[in-house]
Amino acid sequence: MNMIKYNISKLDEKKYPFANEIFRLIKYSFEDIKKKNYDGSIGTSIKGKKICERLKIKAIKNQDEYSANLSFLLKLYFDLLIAISKFWKLCESADYQDAWTYLQDALNYIKTIKGFVNDSSQLSLDKICSHLIKIEKLYPYFYFISVEMICKKITCSICKKSVFDPNCEHISGELYWGELALEVIGDIEFIGSSLVENPVDKRCVILMNLDKNKLEEGPFKTIHILMRNSKHPLIDFDLNITKRKLPRSFYNSWSENSLCPCGSRKKFRECCYDQEFILNPHYVIKIKDEIKL
Ligand SMILES: [Zn+2]
Ligand SMILES: [Zn+2]
Repeated sequence: MNMIKYNISKLDEKKYPFANEIFRLIKYSFEDIKKKNYDGSIGTSIKGKKICERLKIKAIKNQDEYSANLSFLLKLYFDLLIAISKFWKLCESADYQDAWTYLQDALNYIKTIKGFVNDSSQLSLDKICSHLIKIEKLYPYFYFISVEMICKKITCSICKKSVFDPNCEHISGELYWGELALEVIGDIEFIGSSLVENPVDKRCVILMNLDKNKLEEGPFKTIHILMRNSKHPLIDFDLNITKRKLPRSFYNSWSENSLCPCGSRKKFRECCYDQEFILNPHYVIKIKDEIKL
C-alpha cells in the first residue's frame, strides 16, 4: 500500500525549475480572493493548473512518481481556490443556496489534500479547512437528501478493470503517478431517496424560499451576518452558540407548523408552543485575523 505523505509546499527545484511558478500563482490567487477579485483569482488558478499538468508529464518522464503525485495535490489546491472564489462570489449577491455546492466542493478538495500531506500547516491547509467548516455551520441545513441505489458495475479509474478483478493493483483513494484511484460506478439502479442527518455528500439539500429583502430574519441570517461583517474572504472567526431566553410573545407571529425556534428541529406546535419562555440559539460571530499563506 502506498502510504507516502507529501510536502506540498516544496518541489525539486533543480529537476523542475519552471514549477516554482506554481507557488507564485497560489499566492496571487490567494491575494486576489482577499481583494474580492474572484474572476482574477479563478484565471490565475486555471493558469496554475496548466503548470501542474506540465509538471506531471515531466515527472512521469523522469520516473518520479512522488513529484507526479505532488502535481495532482497542487492541482487540487488550485481547484480549492477556484471553489472558494465561486462560493464568495455567489455569497456577495446573497445567493447562499447556490453557493453551498461550492462550499462543499472546497471542503471535499481540502479534506482530500489533507489526507496526503505530512503536515497540514502546509499552505495553511488546517486554517482554511477549519474556516470552511465554521462557515458550513452557519447554514440552516440539518437534513440532506440521500439517494439509495445499487451499483452494478464498479471499475477502477486507473486500469479500468473491475475492482473485484485480482489483476487490479490499485486501492481506491490512493495516488498513482499523479492520479487518484477511484471506483467508477458504471451501472446503477435507483431505489429511492431518504432524508439523513450526516451523509457523505451534503450537496443535496432541500431548497428553501429565500427572500432577499428579508435576509436578516430568514433562515440564512447567520451566514448573512458573517458576509456583512467580514471585510473580505479568508478572515478567520469564532462562532459561539449560546442560548437566549425570550418570552413566548416574541414568537406570536411564528407559524405553528414551522420549526420550533428553540432549535429542536420539531414543529413549533409539538414543542415549545405552550411555554412561557423559549430558549433560542443565539449565534455570536467574532471576527478574528485574516488567514495568511
Ligand atoms: Zn486498477
Ligand atoms: Zn422547542
